[in-house]
Amino acid sequence: MSQGPVWRKRRRVHGKIRASFRRPVTAALPSTTAADTPVPADTRWSPLLRVTVVVHLLAFSLPWFWAGSWRWALAALIANHVLLAAAGLWPRARLLGPNITRLPAAAAARGEVALTIDDGPDPAVTPAVLDLLDRHGARATFFVIAERAARHPALVAEILARGHSVQNHSFHHRHNFSLLGPRGFHRELERAQSQLRALTGERPRFFRAPAGLRNPFLQPVLQRHGLQLTSWTRRGFDTRESDPQRVLARLTRDLAAGDILLLHDGHAARGSGGEPVVLAVLPPLLQRLNDTGLHSVTLPTAFAEATARTPNA
Ligand SMILES: [Zn+2]
Repeated sequence: MSQGPVWRKRRRVHGKIRASFRRPVTAALPSTTAADTPVPADTRWSPLLRVTVVVHLLAFSLPWFWAGSWRWALAALIANHVLLAAAGLWPRARLLGPNITRLPAAAAARGEVALTIDDGPDPAVTPAVLDLLDRHGARATFFVIAERAARHPALVAEILARGHSVQNHSFHHRHNFSLLGPRGFHRELERAQSQLRALTGERPRFFRAPAGLRNPFLQPVLQRHGLQLTSWTRRGFDTRESDPQRVLARLTRDLAAGDILLLHDGHAARGSGGEPVVLAVLPPLLQRLNDTGLHSVTLPTAFAEATARTPNA
């Protein structure tokens, strides 16, 4: 009996998520002004998801009419699921839905890149990262773990006060994030959105999946929350690479305007002297940006300005 209200609530949540698969995506997005919506809402089903629906319909219906087809149906289902799993393991893939890997052309034309810094805030690392960014006049986007942000509200306030952006990197940063279903994704994202709104005054509009891994159930949940999946152009693997030179080389290989670069202030690997790798990488990286005429801006700045300029472009 006592489970009744909880069960009804769960059914409502699940029903809304299922409905978001069917609804036109424009209706699934929260009502925001044009200026509040930095990313074009290309939220149609990806070709792979459409093929998946067709494969499942055929696989479960053909054997009723042609008994000998079950082997083909089974093989098609297995191949389809292998492809879906592979797409979820490829962080920069767009096979499961929209995925930002670069800044808009307008931002690139202005010489902008985006430094994105994940897994913080960390009181032992983030303040030094903020000082380095200030020293070079750079702005960054911090994809924070909301649970950590809640533990360090002053650090979040400091990130904002220095002109940077705080976005959603899930609530717990679970290791099994990519194995969650619609309700699990909803809980992780909604809790993080609420927590970060309470801390920053705004609901985040960009989401980065833990380790960039996901599955087909994530996209409809992102749509419901008005979030845009954001990966990167290049990453330094600075959570496991202890040599700053290697991290720097990965980040600056073919460095160009419009790039989105990934570093970590949380879970940062340590160099031979015990210092967080990100603190050794940032000075030469920021200097390289300055030397090549590039400058780092936040994701909302890069996308909002592109959107604002679109009508006159
Ligand atoms: Zn992460």
